[in-house]
Amino acid sequence: MQTNFSLAQLADPHMKESEQILRTCVHCGFCTATCPTYVLLGDELDSPRGRIYLIKDMLEGGKPATAEVVKHVDRCLSCLSCMTTCPSGVHYMHLVDHARAHIEKTYERPASEKLLRNTLAKILPNRKAFRWATTLARLGRPFAGIAAKLPEGGRLAAMLALAPSALPAPSSATQPGSFAPKGERKGRVALLTGCAQAELAPGINEAAIRLLNRHGVEVVLPKGEGCCGALVHHMGQEASALAYAKANIDAWTAEMANGLDAILITTSGCGTTIKDYGFMLRDDPAYARKAATISAIAKDISEYLETLPPLPVTRETGQSVTYHAACSLQHGQQIKTAPKNLLKQAGFVVKEAAEAHLCCGSAGTYNMLQPEISARLRERKLGNIAATKPEIIAAGNIGCMTQLAQGTATPIVHTVELLDWATGGPRPKGL
Ligand code: SF4
Ligand code: SF4
Repeated sequence: MQTNFSLAQLADPHMKESEQILRTCVHCGFCTATCPTYVLLGDELDSPRGRIYLIKDMLEGGKPATAEVVKHVDRCLSCLSCMTTCPSGVHYMHLVDHARAHIEKTYERPASEKLLRNTLAKILPNRKAFRWATTLARLGRPFAGIAAKLPEGGRLAAMLALAPSALPAPSSATQPGSFAPKGERKGRVALLTGCAQAELAPGINEAAIRLLNRHGVEVVLPKGEGCCGALVHHMGQEASALAYAKANIDAWTAEMANGLDAILITTSGCGTTIKDYGFMLRDDPAYARKAATISAIAKDISEYLETLPPLPVTRETGQSVTYHAACSLQHGQQIKTAPKNLLKQAGFVVKEAAEAHLCCGSAGTYNMLQPEISARLRERKLGNIAATKPEIIAAGNIGCMTQLAQGTATPIVHTVELLDWATGGPRPKGL
Protein backbone atom coordinates (compact mmCIF):
# COMPACT_ATOMS: atom_id res chain seq x y z
CA MET A 1 0.00 0.00 0.00
CA GLN A 2 1.34 3.41 -0.95
CA THR A 3 1.61 5.86 1.92
CA ASN A 4 2.14 9.61 2.07
CA PHE A 5 3.43 10.41 5.54
CA SER A 6 5.54 13.55 5.84
CA LEU A 7 9.16 13.37 6.98
CA ALA A 8 8.16 15.15 10.18
CA GLN A 9 5.53 12.48 10.88
CA LEU A 10 8.02 9.69 10.21
CA ALA A 11 10.43 11.18 12.74
CA ASP A 12 8.04 9.72 15.34
CA PRO A 13 9.20 6.09 15.69
CA HIS A 14 5.66 4.85 16.41
CA MET A 15 4.35 6.51 13.25
CA LYS A 16 7.27 5.06 11.30
CA GLU A 17 6.42 1.55 12.54
CA SER A 18 2.78 1.98 11.55
CA GLU A 19 3.81 3.29 8.15
CA GLN A 20 5.91 0.17 7.61
CA ILE A 21 2.98 -2.04 8.59
CA LEU A 22 0.68 -0.16 6.20
CA ARG A 23 3.16 -0.57 3.35
CA THR A 24 3.12 -4.36 3.69
CA CYS A 25 -0.63 -4.51 2.96
CA VAL A 26 -1.27 -5.30 -0.71
CA HIS A 27 -5.07 -4.89 -0.37
CA CYS A 28 -5.66 -8.46 -1.53
CA GLY A 29 -8.63 -8.82 0.86
CA PHE A 30 -7.91 -12.45 1.84
CA CYS A 31 -8.30 -11.35 5.47
CA THR A 32 -11.93 -10.29 4.98
CA ALA A 33 -13.18 -13.89 4.70
CA THR A 34 -11.87 -14.84 8.15
CA CYS A 35 -12.75 -11.62 9.99
CA PRO A 36 -15.70 -12.27 12.34
CA THR A 37 -17.12 -8.75 12.06
CA TYR A 38 -17.00 -8.79 8.26
CA VAL A 39 -18.55 -12.27 8.21
CA LEU A 40 -21.41 -11.01 10.40
CA LEU A 41 -21.91 -7.45 9.16
CA GLY A 42 -20.70 -7.65 5.54
CA ASP A 43 -19.41 -4.07 5.61
CA GLU A 44 -15.93 -3.51 4.14
CA LEU A 45 -15.28 -0.95 6.90
CA ASP A 46 -15.78 -3.75 9.44
CA SER A 47 -13.11 -5.86 7.75
CA PRO A 48 -9.36 -5.76 8.43
CA ARG A 49 -8.68 -4.17 5.04
CA GLY A 50 -11.35 -1.52 5.61
CA ARG A 51 -10.02 -0.73 9.07
CA ILE A 52 -6.48 -0.53 7.71
CA TYR A 53 -7.63 2.13 5.21
CA LEU A 54 -9.44 4.06 7.94
CA ILE A 55 -6.38 3.94 10.22
CA LYS A 56 -4.08 4.97 7.37
CA ASP A 57 -6.25 7.95 6.54
CA MET A 58 -6.46 9.00 10.20
CA LEU A 59 -2.73 8.69 10.95
CA GLU A 60 -1.48 10.00 7.61
CA GLY A 61 -3.70 13.06 7.78
CA GLY A 62 -2.56 13.74 11.36
CA LYS A 63 -6.27 13.97 12.14
CA PRO A 64 -8.17 13.46 15.36
CA ALA A 65 -10.25 10.27 15.25
CA THR A 66 -13.75 10.70 13.85
CA ALA A 67 -16.91 9.01 15.09
CA GLU A 68 -16.86 6.84 11.94
CA VAL A 69 -13.31 5.57 12.55
CA VAL A 70 -14.06 4.97 16.23
CA LYS A 71 -17.20 2.97 15.38
CA HIS A 72 -15.35 0.54 13.12
CA VAL A 73 -12.18 0.26 15.24
CA ASP A 74 -14.31 -0.31 18.36
CA ARG A 75 -16.09 -3.14 16.56
CA CYS A 76 -12.75 -4.90 15.98
CA LEU A 77 -12.36 -7.80 18.43
CA SER A 78 -8.55 -7.81 18.25
CA CYS A 79 -9.00 -11.52 17.58
CA LEU A 80 -6.08 -11.39 15.11
CA SER A 81 -7.65 -13.92 12.78
CA CYS A 82 -6.61 -11.50 10.02
CA MET A 83 -2.95 -11.93 10.98
CA THR A 84 -3.19 -15.70 10.63
CA THR A 85 -4.76 -15.32 7.18
CA CYS A 86 -2.68 -12.46 5.76
CA PRO A 87 -0.14 -13.74 3.20
CA SER A 88 1.89 -10.51 3.40
CA GLY A 89 2.57 -10.59 7.13
CA VAL A 90 0.73 -7.35 7.98
CA HIS A 91 1.15 -6.80 11.73
CA TYR A 92 -2.44 -5.70 12.29
CA MET A 93 -2.11 -6.02 16.08
CA HIS A 94 0.50 -3.29 16.40
CA LEU A 95 -1.36 -1.10 13.92
CA VAL A 96 -4.69 -1.31 15.71
CA ASP A 97 -2.98 -0.82 19.08
CA HIS A 98 -1.49 2.43 17.73
CA ALA A 99 -4.90 3.45 16.34
CA ARG A 100 -6.59 2.81 19.68
CA ALA A 101 -4.02 4.90 21.55
CA HIS A 102 -4.55 7.69 18.96
CA ILE A 103 -8.34 7.46 19.43
CA GLU A 104 -7.96 7.64 23.19
CA LYS A 105 -5.86 10.82 22.86
CA THR A 106 -7.88 12.62 20.19
CA TYR A 107 -11.53 11.54 20.46
CA GLU A 108 -14.03 12.72 23.05
CA ARG A 109 -16.42 9.85 23.71
CA PRO A 110 -19.93 10.59 25.02
CA ALA A 111 -19.84 11.08 28.81
CA SER A 112 -21.82 7.91 29.61
CA GLU A 113 -19.50 5.78 27.48
CA LYS A 114 -16.40 7.37 28.96
CA LEU A 115 -17.72 6.64 32.43
CA LEU A 116 -18.43 3.02 31.53
CA ARG A 117 -15.02 2.44 29.96
CA ASN A 118 -13.18 4.11 32.83
CA THR A 119 -15.16 2.11 35.38
CA LEU A 120 -14.30 -1.15 33.61
CA ALA A 121 -10.66 -0.09 33.37
CA LYS A 122 -10.55 0.53 37.13
CA ILE A 123 -12.53 -2.49 38.32
CA LEU A 124 -11.56 -5.43 36.12
CA PRO A 125 -7.80 -5.42 36.76
CA ASN A 126 -8.23 -4.94 40.51
CA ARG A 127 -9.11 -8.18 42.27
CA LYS A 128 -10.68 -6.61 45.36
CA ALA A 129 -12.76 -4.17 43.32
CA PHE A 130 -13.75 -7.00 40.97
CA ARG A 131 -15.03 -9.07 43.89
CA TRP A 132 -17.13 -6.14 45.16
CA ALA A 133 -18.42 -5.37 41.68
CA THR A 134 -19.56 -8.93 41.03
CA THR A 135 -21.48 -8.91 44.33
CA LEU A 136 -23.17 -5.64 43.34
CA ALA A 137 -23.89 -6.97 39.85
CA ARG A 138 -25.47 -10.08 41.34
CA LEU A 139 -27.74 -7.92 43.51
CA GLY A 140 -28.53 -5.76 40.49
CA ARG A 141 -29.47 -8.64 38.22
CA PRO A 142 -33.23 -8.49 38.98
CA PHE A 143 -33.15 -4.88 37.74
CA ALA A 144 -31.60 -5.76 34.37
CA GLY A 145 -34.86 -4.82 32.59
CA ILE A 146 -34.79 -1.30 34.09
CA ALA A 147 -31.05 -1.00 33.43
CA ALA A 148 -31.63 -1.79 29.76
CA LYS A 149 -33.68 1.42 29.42
CA LEU A 150 -30.88 3.68 30.75
CA PRO A 151 -28.13 5.25 28.58
CA GLU A 152 -25.63 2.43 27.89
CA GLY A 153 -28.43 0.13 29.09
CA GLY A 154 -27.67 -2.71 26.66
CA ARG A 155 -24.14 -2.74 27.95
CA LEU A 156 -25.23 -2.63 31.59
CA ALA A 157 -27.58 -5.55 30.97
CA ALA A 158 -24.72 -7.49 29.32
CA MET A 159 -22.50 -6.89 32.34
CA LEU A 160 -25.19 -8.02 34.76
CA ALA A 161 -25.68 -11.20 32.71
CA LEU A 162 -21.95 -11.92 32.76
CA ALA A 163 -21.61 -11.60 36.55
CA PRO A 164 -21.26 -15.03 38.18
CA SER A 165 -23.95 -16.12 40.65
CA ALA A 166 -21.24 -16.74 43.28
CA LEU A 167 -17.47 -16.41 43.44
CA PRO A 168 -15.30 -19.23 44.78
CA ALA A 169 -13.50 -18.71 48.08
CA PRO A 170 -10.01 -17.16 47.83
CA SER A 171 -7.36 -19.78 47.15
CA SER A 172 -3.68 -20.16 48.05
CA ALA A 173 -3.10 -20.68 44.30
CA THR A 174 -3.83 -17.00 43.80
CA GLN A 175 -1.65 -15.58 46.59
CA PRO A 176 2.14 -15.09 46.54
CA GLY A 177 3.93 -18.30 47.47
CA SER A 178 5.86 -21.28 46.27
CA PHE A 179 4.74 -24.86 45.55
CA ALA A 180 7.33 -27.60 45.80
CA PRO A 181 7.45 -30.38 43.22
CA LYS A 182 6.85 -34.07 43.90
CA GLY A 183 10.25 -35.78 44.06
CA GLU A 184 13.32 -34.46 42.32
CA ARG A 185 13.08 -30.85 41.11
CA LYS A 186 13.36 -30.76 37.33
CA GLY A 187 12.41 -27.14 36.73
CA ARG A 188 11.19 -23.89 38.27
CA VAL A 189 8.58 -21.60 36.78
CA ALA A 190 6.51 -18.54 37.71
CA LEU A 191 2.79 -18.79 37.13
CA LEU A 192 0.79 -15.64 36.38
CA THR A 193 -1.93 -15.04 38.96
CA GLY A 194 -3.35 -12.09 37.03
CA CYS A 195 -6.67 -10.50 37.90
CA ALA A 196 -10.19 -11.66 36.97
CA GLN A 197 -9.34 -15.35 36.51
CA ALA A 198 -7.94 -15.56 40.05
CA GLU A 199 -11.35 -14.52 41.40
CA LEU A 200 -13.62 -16.25 38.89
CA ALA A 201 -11.90 -19.62 38.67
CA PRO A 202 -8.96 -20.16 41.05
CA GLY A 203 -9.36 -23.89 40.32
CA ILE A 204 -7.55 -23.35 37.03
CA ASN A 205 -4.28 -22.31 38.63
CA GLU A 206 -4.75 -24.90 41.39
CA ALA A 207 -4.92 -27.57 38.67
CA ALA A 208 -1.91 -26.07 36.86
CA ILE A 209 0.17 -26.10 40.06
CA ARG A 210 -0.71 -29.75 40.87
CA LEU A 211 0.05 -30.77 37.32
CA LEU A 212 3.39 -28.95 37.21
CA ASN A 213 4.39 -30.29 40.65
CA ARG A 214 3.58 -33.81 39.44
CA HIS A 215 5.94 -33.17 36.55
CA GLY A 216 8.67 -32.25 39.05
CA VAL A 217 8.40 -28.50 38.41
CA GLU A 218 8.47 -26.01 41.27
CA VAL A 219 5.90 -23.23 40.86
CA VAL A 220 6.33 -19.76 42.29
CA LEU A 221 3.72 -16.98 42.45
CA PRO A 222 5.89 -13.89 42.92
CA LYS A 223 4.77 -11.01 45.10
CA GLY A 224 3.86 -7.89 43.16
CA GLU A 225 2.51 -9.40 39.95
CA GLY A 226 -1.08 -8.84 38.86
CA CYS A 227 -3.10 -7.79 35.83
CA CYS A 228 -1.07 -8.08 32.61
CA GLY A 229 -2.53 -4.82 31.27
CA ALA A 230 -4.33 -6.35 28.28
CA LEU A 231 -7.78 -5.08 29.27
CA VAL A 232 -6.74 -1.43 29.37
CA HIS A 233 -4.32 -1.85 26.45
CA HIS A 234 -7.23 -2.89 24.23
CA MET A 235 -9.11 0.23 25.34
CA GLY A 236 -6.21 2.41 24.15
CA GLN A 237 -5.19 3.37 27.71
CA GLU A 238 -1.50 3.08 26.99
CA ALA A 239 -0.04 4.66 30.14
CA SER A 240 -2.09 2.40 32.36
CA ALA A 241 -1.20 -0.72 30.35
CA LEU A 242 2.51 0.11 30.59
CA ALA A 243 2.23 0.63 34.36
CA TYR A 244 0.75 -2.87 34.77
CA ALA A 245 3.44 -4.30 32.49
CA LYS A 246 6.23 -2.67 34.47
CA ALA A 247 4.92 -3.94 37.82
CA ASN A 248 4.91 -7.50 36.46
CA ILE A 249 8.33 -7.11 34.89
CA ASP A 250 9.75 -5.92 38.22
CA ALA A 251 8.19 -8.86 40.08
CA TRP A 252 9.42 -11.48 37.60
CA THR A 253 12.86 -9.89 37.15
CA ALA A 254 13.38 -10.06 40.92
CA GLU A 255 12.30 -13.71 40.89
CA MET A 256 14.65 -14.54 38.02
CA ALA A 257 17.55 -14.05 40.44
CA ASN A 258 16.44 -17.39 42.01
CA GLY A 259 16.28 -19.08 38.60
CA LEU A 260 13.21 -19.27 36.37
CA ASP A 261 12.86 -21.53 33.35
CA ALA A 262 9.66 -19.86 32.17
CA ILE A 263 6.77 -17.60 33.08
CA LEU A 264 3.62 -19.61 32.49
CA ILE A 265 0.20 -18.23 31.70
CA THR A 266 -3.11 -20.08 31.89
CA THR A 267 -5.15 -17.23 30.37
CA SER A 268 -4.14 -16.97 26.76
CA GLY A 269 -5.43 -13.40 26.40
CA CYS A 270 -2.80 -12.35 28.96
CA GLY A 271 -0.13 -14.49 27.28
CA THR A 272 -0.42 -12.60 24.00
CA THR A 273 0.11 -9.28 25.79
CA ILE A 274 2.99 -10.48 27.99
CA LYS A 275 4.74 -11.86 24.91
CA ASP A 276 4.42 -8.33 23.48
CA TYR A 277 5.90 -6.51 26.52
CA GLY A 278 9.24 -6.28 24.69
CA PHE A 279 7.54 -4.32 21.90
CA MET A 280 5.32 -2.25 24.18
CA LEU A 281 8.33 -1.03 26.19
CA ARG A 282 10.82 -0.82 23.31
CA ASP A 283 11.35 2.94 23.81
CA ASP A 284 11.77 2.82 27.56
CA PRO A 285 15.49 2.85 28.42
CA ALA A 286 14.88 1.51 31.93
CA TYR A 287 12.62 -1.36 30.84
CA ALA A 288 13.29 -2.25 27.18
CA ARG A 289 15.82 -5.00 27.93
CA LYS A 290 14.04 -6.43 30.93
CA ALA A 291 10.74 -6.44 29.02
CA ALA A 292 12.30 -8.30 26.07
CA THR A 293 13.76 -10.90 28.47
CA ILE A 294 10.38 -11.44 30.14
CA SER A 295 8.61 -11.77 26.79
CA ALA A 296 11.20 -14.31 25.65
CA ILE A 297 10.50 -16.68 28.55
CA ALA A 298 6.71 -16.16 28.69
CA LYS A 299 4.82 -19.28 27.60
CA ASP A 300 1.29 -20.51 27.47
CA ILE A 301 1.00 -23.46 29.85
CA SER A 302 0.17 -25.84 26.99
CA GLU A 303 3.31 -24.75 25.14
CA TYR A 304 5.43 -25.62 28.19
CA LEU A 305 3.64 -28.87 29.09
CA GLU A 306 4.17 -30.17 25.58
CA THR A 307 7.94 -30.06 26.13
CA LEU A 308 7.68 -32.36 29.19
CA PRO A 309 7.44 -36.16 29.09
CA PRO A 310 3.76 -37.20 29.42
CA LEU A 311 2.53 -38.23 32.87
CA PRO A 312 0.83 -41.60 33.36
CA VAL A 313 -2.97 -41.42 33.06
CA THR A 314 -4.44 -42.68 36.33
CA ARG A 315 -8.18 -42.72 35.63
CA GLU A 316 -10.49 -43.82 32.90
CA THR A 317 -10.76 -41.08 30.31
CA GLY A 318 -12.22 -41.33 26.80
CA GLN A 319 -14.84 -38.57 27.19
CA SER A 320 -15.52 -36.58 24.04
CA VAL A 321 -14.07 -33.10 24.39
CA THR A 322 -14.61 -30.32 21.89
CA TYR A 323 -11.64 -28.04 22.07
CA HIS A 324 -12.48 -24.35 21.66
CA ALA A 325 -9.40 -22.52 20.38
CA ALA A 326 -9.20 -19.07 21.96
CA CYS A 327 -8.20 -16.44 19.39
CA SER A 328 -5.38 -15.23 21.62
CA LEU A 329 -3.93 -18.74 21.56
CA GLN A 330 -4.49 -19.77 17.94
CA HIS A 331 -3.99 -16.36 16.29
CA GLY A 332 -2.21 -14.22 18.88
CA GLN A 333 0.36 -16.86 19.83
CA GLN A 334 -0.03 -19.28 16.91
CA ILE A 335 -0.43 -22.19 19.35
CA LYS A 336 -2.79 -24.52 17.57
CA THR A 337 -1.92 -28.13 18.28
CA ALA A 338 -0.37 -28.29 21.78
CA PRO A 339 -3.65 -28.24 23.80
CA LYS A 340 -5.26 -30.84 21.50
CA ASN A 341 -2.18 -33.08 21.57
CA LEU A 342 -2.04 -32.96 25.37
CA LEU A 343 -5.73 -33.83 25.70
CA LYS A 344 -5.35 -36.73 23.26
CA GLN A 345 -2.28 -38.00 25.13
CA ALA A 346 -4.40 -37.98 28.30
CA GLY A 347 -6.96 -40.23 26.61
CA PHE A 348 -9.72 -37.78 25.69
CA VAL A 349 -11.46 -37.98 22.33
CA VAL A 350 -10.78 -34.52 20.96
CA LYS A 351 -13.12 -32.91 18.46
CA GLU A 352 -13.01 -29.56 16.77
CA ALA A 353 -16.02 -27.53 15.69
CA ALA A 354 -16.54 -25.92 12.28
CA GLU A 355 -15.38 -22.31 11.94
CA ALA A 356 -12.88 -22.86 14.74
CA HIS A 357 -10.96 -19.81 13.49
CA LEU A 358 -13.84 -17.43 14.37
CA CYS A 359 -13.97 -15.60 17.69
CA CYS A 360 -16.62 -16.51 20.31
CA GLY A 361 -17.24 -12.80 20.95
CA SER A 362 -15.58 -12.59 24.36
CA ALA A 363 -12.45 -10.56 23.51
CA GLY A 364 -11.62 -8.90 26.84
CA THR A 365 -14.24 -6.22 27.49
CA TYR A 366 -15.80 -6.63 24.02
CA ASN A 367 -18.76 -8.66 25.31
CA MET A 368 -19.63 -5.73 27.59
CA LEU A 369 -18.89 -2.91 25.15
CA GLN A 370 -20.33 -4.52 21.98
CA PRO A 371 -22.97 -6.87 23.43
CA GLU A 372 -25.00 -7.35 20.25
CA ILE A 373 -22.15 -8.46 17.98
CA SER A 374 -20.70 -10.46 20.84
CA ALA A 375 -23.98 -12.34 21.44
CA ARG A 376 -24.29 -13.20 17.73
CA LEU A 377 -20.76 -14.57 17.68
CA ARG A 378 -21.42 -16.62 20.81
CA GLU A 379 -24.57 -18.17 19.36
CA ARG A 380 -22.76 -19.00 16.13
CA LYS A 381 -19.85 -20.56 18.03
CA LEU A 382 -22.12 -22.57 20.33
CA GLY A 383 -24.13 -23.81 17.34
CA ASN A 384 -20.95 -25.14 15.74
CA ILE A 385 -19.80 -26.69 19.01
CA ALA A 386 -23.20 -28.32 19.63
CA ALA A 387 -23.00 -30.00 16.21
CA THR A 388 -20.00 -32.00 17.50
CA LYS A 389 -22.12 -33.34 20.42
CA PRO A 390 -19.42 -32.99 23.09
CA GLU A 391 -19.61 -34.21 26.67
CA ILE A 392 -17.18 -31.47 27.68
CA ILE A 393 -15.94 -28.21 26.13
CA ALA A 394 -12.29 -27.35 26.84
CA ALA A 395 -10.65 -23.96 26.40
CA GLY A 396 -7.49 -22.20 27.51
CA ASN A 397 -8.90 -18.77 28.27
CA ILE A 398 -11.25 -17.71 31.08
CA GLY A 399 -12.83 -15.01 28.90
CA CYS A 400 -14.03 -17.58 26.35
CA MET A 401 -15.16 -19.94 29.13
CA THR A 402 -17.33 -17.23 30.75
CA GLN A 403 -18.70 -16.12 27.40
CA LEU A 404 -19.66 -19.61 26.22
CA ALA A 405 -21.09 -20.63 29.60
CA GLN A 406 -23.87 -18.07 29.15
CA GLY A 407 -25.42 -20.06 26.32
CA THR A 408 -24.85 -23.76 26.97
CA ALA A 409 -25.46 -26.40 29.61
CA THR A 410 -22.44 -28.45 28.43
CA PRO A 411 -19.66 -28.17 31.04
CA ILE A 412 -16.78 -25.91 30.07
CA VAL A 413 -13.43 -26.48 31.72
CA HIS A 414 -9.88 -25.34 31.23
CA THR A 415 -7.53 -27.70 29.38
CA VAL A 416 -5.24 -27.96 32.43
CA GLU A 417 -8.14 -28.98 34.66
CA LEU A 418 -8.77 -31.98 32.41
CA LEU A 419 -5.06 -32.86 32.26
CA ASP A 420 -4.80 -32.62 36.04
CA TRP A 421 -7.91 -34.79 36.52
CA ALA A 422 -6.61 -37.44 34.12
CA THR A 423 -3.28 -37.68 35.94
CA GLY A 424 -4.44 -37.83 39.55
CA GLY A 425 -6.10 -34.51 40.37
CA PRO A 426 -9.67 -33.97 41.59
CA ARG A 427 -12.65 -33.86 39.28
CA PRO A 428 -12.90 -30.29 37.85
CA LYS A 429 -15.62 -28.26 39.58
CA GLY A 430 -17.33 -27.50 36.29
CA LEU A 431 -17.95 -31.19 35.49
S1 SF4 B 1 -4.77 -10.16 3.74
FE1 SF4 B 1 -3.07 -8.86 4.45
S2 SF4 B 1 -2.29 -7.87 2.60
FE2 SF4 B 1 -4.32 -8.68 2.08
S3 SF4 B 1 -5.72 -6.95 2.52
FE3 SF4 B 1 -5.66 -8.19 4.37
S4 SF4 B 1 -4.06 -7.22 5.60
FE4 SF4 B 1 -3.78 -6.44 3.51
S1 SF4 C 1 -8.60 -8.48 14.67
FE1 SF4 C 1 -10.35 -9.84 14.21
S2 SF4 C 1 -12.13 -8.47 14.19
FE2 SF4 C 1 -10.30 -7.15 14.06
S3 SF4 C 1 -9.96 -6.85 11.88
FE3 SF4 C 1 -8.72 -8.63 12.44
S4 SF4 C 1 -10.02 -10.42 12.05
FE4 SF4 C 1 -11.37 -8.59 12.07
